[in-house]
This record gives sequence, structure tokens and C-alpha cells, in this order.
Amino acid sequence: MVNLTTTLSTLITANHILHYHSVVDAMGHISVRNPANNATFFIALQMGPAVVSSPKDIGEYLIEDGSPVNGTLGGYAERYIHSEVMKRYPDVMSVVHSHSEDVLPYTLKSVFLNVSPRSHIISGDSVPNFDISTIYTSSTPHDMLINTPVLGAALAQTFGINTTNPTSPLHTTILQRGHGFVTAGESIEMAVDFASYATSNARVQTTAILLANAMGGGIKYLSSQERKDCADMNRWIAFKPWKQWVREVERSAIYDNELGTPPGA
Ligand SMILES: [Zn+2]
Repeated sequence: MVNLTTTLSTLITANHILHYHSVVDAMGHISVRNPANNATFFIALQMGPAVVSSPKDIGEYLIEDGSPVNGTLGGYAERYIHSEVMKRYPDVMSVVHSHSEDVLPYTLKSVFLNVSPRSHIISGDSVPNFDISTIYTSSTPHDMLINTPVLGAALAQTFGINTTNPTSPLHTTILQRGHGFVTAGESIEMAVDFASYATSNARVQTTAILLANAMGGGIKYLSSQERKDCADMNRWIAFKPWKQWVREVERSAIYDNELGTPPGA
């Protein structure tokens, strides 16, 4: 039997973890598919992730078109990122969208690669970079926001198709040029893990590039085989950090979860 309180408690704590680790600032967001109704998803209303604390702070929306349901009023303009990724990939249960300043430079210029074994951003040779300018029309605002189902669908397509499992995306992470990145997972815990290690990977890669430029010698990136095998390894180890991260935010005075500790954490 589905326990919605468990889902919402986990979603609230996930907001805090993403903020605690600077994956999101006051603007990023995380969603979860409704375990009791495959046609809707939950995501916080218009507020910073650190202050999400109760079910009344969370809205419910249709995956089909991102419209609010069950009394929800308003919400994030960018919720179509979440609705369209979930629509295109039925196996995706949770999506994170971040404007991390660690990752942002890689959306503008460099190739973003796995440099840490705990990163699982790469399924191919590089992380796809969605360029919204290819979708804009002359009559639409060029504000970089994914604020319509059409833009959301174009972004979702960037995740690619996993040919051995077409209901799952090929990539766990994509970049958004000049904006941020998106991760998708089969659970809240997985999406948080992917997003956290994408930002830490960016910090490590930036440091490695600066060191190489300052000292010479170049960078020896993980090989294609190493990236693939680390990505496979990380899929089963993704739950390991969760309990520790829950403990961290529970003992931090700025966060409050009225539903208590997520069960199992
Ligand atoms: Zn955004």
C-alpha cells in the first residue's frame, strides 16, 4: 500500500539536502512522481528549497501538461522540465533542476566529463548540452526558462533513449546552455545522488583544469571503459550517502520537516 506521507517526507528532506550541499540555491527544485497516481507529480511551490517544510508547501501537477491539480495554485514556471521528463521516460520517478555555479561554466564552453569515480554523469562520451536557442521562435521570450510543455519536451529529448530499456533515459544528467543542469533517477534518493555528484564532479574537474594550466602536464580523464563501469557501479551504490545526508540536515537548525525523518533513513 502506498504511503504518501513517506513520499512527501522524503521530498521535503531532499529539498534540504540539495540546499545543504549547494546543489540548489533559492531557485532550484526537485520533483517526485505520485506513487499513488502515475499521472501526477509533486514539487514544492514558489519558495526556496531550504524553507520547504510541510505538505502545504508542495503542489501536485499533471504529468501530461504540467497543469495544477487537487487545489494547487500556481507553482514554478519551470515545472515543465519535470513533467516532460517524466512523460517521456516512465521509469523516471524523480527529477532535479539546478543552476549550480559549479556546473554552469561547463554549459557555456568546456566538455563536462567524469573525473571522479562517484560521478555518474556520463553514459556516452560527454554530457549532452541542451541549447534552448535552437527552439526559440521570434515571438517567444528568450529568458532561458523551460516554461512551456514544448520547451520541456525538447529538453527531455536530450536525455536520449536507452535502447535496452526504452522507458528509461540514456543519460542521467544533461546540461542546459547558460542555465544549469537536470538529473533524472528512479527514486528521489537516486536523483539527489546524481545531482550532488554532478556538482562535486564539476568542482574537481575545474580544479584539475586550473592545476594543469598552472603546472602543465595535462589531465588524464577516466577512460571510456572506466566511465561506463563507474556509472554501472554507482547505480547500486547511490543509496549509500542518503542516511548520512538526512542526518546532516536534521541536525541543521535552518531546516524543518513537519513530517519527520523519511522512513528507512
Ligand atoms: Zn532554471
